[in-house]
Amino acid sequence: MVLWKSPHPDLAIPTDITTWEWAFESAVFSPLQQPSPDLGSYCNAVTRERLDFAQVKEKATKLSTILVRNYGLKSQETVTLFSTNTIWYPVAMWATVRAGGRVNGASPSYTVEEMKQALKTAEAKLLMTLPSSLEVAIAAGKSVGMPKSHVLLLEGSAPGFTNIQELIAQYEIQGLKPELPWFIPPGKTNKDICGYLNFSSGTTGLPKAVMLSHHNVIAQCQQLQQLQVLPSDGSRYRILAVMPLFHITGLVRFCHYPVFLNGDSIMLPKFTMDQMLKSIIEYRIEELILVPPIIVRMVRDPVVDKYLPDLRRVVKRWSSGSAPSSPEIIEQLHAKFRDTGFRQGYGATESTACISSHPPSHFDYQYAKSAGILVANTFAKVISLEDPTILLGPGETGEICAKGPQIAMGYLGNEAATKESFDDEGYLHTGDVGHITTEGLIYIEDRIKEMIKVKGLQVPPAELEDSLLSHPDVEECAVLGIPDSYTGERPKAFVVLKQGVWPSVEMGRRLLDIVMKRKVRYKWLVEIEFTDSIPRNGAGKLLRRVLKGMDQDK
Ligand code: AMP
Repeated sequence: MVLWKSPHPDLAIPTDITTWEWAFESAVFSPLQQPSPDLGSYCNAVTRERLDFAQVKEKATKLSTILVRNYGLKSQETVTLFSTNTIWYPVAMWATVRAGGRVNGASPSYTVEEMKQALKTAEAKLLMTLPSSLEVAIAAGKSVGMPKSHVLLLEGSAPGFTNIQELIAQYEIQGLKPELPWFIPPGKTNKDICGYLNFSSGTTGLPKAVMLSHHNVIAQCQQLQQLQVLPSDGSRYRILAVMPLFHITGLVRFCHYPVFLNGDSIMLPKFTMDQMLKSIIEYRIEELILVPPIIVRMVRDPVVDKYLPDLRRVVKRWSSGSAPSSPEIIEQLHAKFRDTGFRQGYGATESTACISSHPPSHFDYQYAKSAGILVANTFAKVISLEDPTILLGPGETGEICAKGPQIAMGYLGNEAATKESFDDEGYLHTGDVGHITTEGLIYIEDRIKEMIKVKGLQVPPAELEDSLLSHPDVEECAVLGIPDSYTGERPKAFVVLKQGVWPSVEMGRRLLDIVMKRKVRYKWLVEIEFTDSIPRNGAGKLLRRVLKGMDQDK
């Protein structure tokens, strides 16, 4: 029997404080409680608008008080943030957790159908958004019975809608007194309290709301800090928030971690290569946290050449995660940026981001094909794909399972899915296939869960299959990820038509259209293949791996 334990020294992770107390009030952890702190901030990379963490605390306290008094927000009620990256996102996030609420992030590009599902799944009480997403927010809110007054703007204006900055200003005009921050009830710890809901489809089915506790988020930040290298010139830690805040990496890395490190979280409101490259140089970002498609662009996009000498001077290392990275692309990255290091982060929403990462001793390209070693306080086992009761040894390939303080509480209101992914010993069954070497390096080789990853974002096949099945001529269908050298994967559908209906280009177009109308762009199908049957086992369960094998053999 083999169990792996992180080789890093164990961390003492507090169990008696909320993330709010940890970030802003704890004498041990909060930068605000240190003598004469030079405070870090959330900063807009383009406008340079900046809120230092004392301002964040003050504004979040006021907003939190108003959410409780005027909107009746209670502990364990959900506020959904439906927005691109803005410095007001973490203010709303902190206001919500201060009130004991749950913060739920949703992709700002969601369609009305997706947003409606998101609001239902996360049981949202309030919705905060931007003018650009307001139309979708109103329609989705209406369809789940959310009053219009519960849709607020994070920034910008629209007739009839309130902006949270106005709410904060009103508080000041009225000279209100703050509500006390919500605290953990006696007999409970921060492991029992859900503070965050992030969507993931897990091993199978539609997106579910992953319940992350206050403990999960604090633990992950401490685990990451142990592997952190601070700027070489002694200046404050800086991170460029390229990836979206609604994703688990954004929530941890760009909203929480910078407060813990008293660093600057520099937000890119809208991603363009040019703006990202300019910001790397302007803010002297030494370590970039990227997804594989952006690394592909670092290697291939000619705009990079314009900034090459400055980039080579500034960037010390690249960090890739959220999806597998191609070894060829990593080699090309190394050839282009000779003096840089490289590391990976591997994990899932269900593990509050990282299960493993490369420590500073392994920032070398020779380790780039692995996903690093277990972060502190984390255990792993590799189970046989044929018989999950068999534990595999070093170098043997099976499903990677992980246990530690960052492993989520489960899925909101979905006991069955929780039982399927989290076992009785507390291990998360990741649905990823790989092996662990005797040195403890984790290699991810494949994925047995249904999930497709496009540009590091989840595409649950069940969602697309439901859309296709809504067409009266579709008998059955299955959606798979097929490899794509830029996005990692793209969804392809296999469709069986009803008897008497013949495949045609027109029919294919109609089916593609259904998905395009209902789903955000990264979920759009690249291909439809009409087929006579879909492989299923005796119990009628779809055999995706058989279908994948058939597709690869073509
Ligand atoms: P998400 O919950 O959206 O972060 O997706 C988690 C999934 O992304 C994991 O279960 C893996 O399948 C995949 N993933 C994340 N990081 C890596 C990595 N470094 N290498 C390979 N796959 C990864």
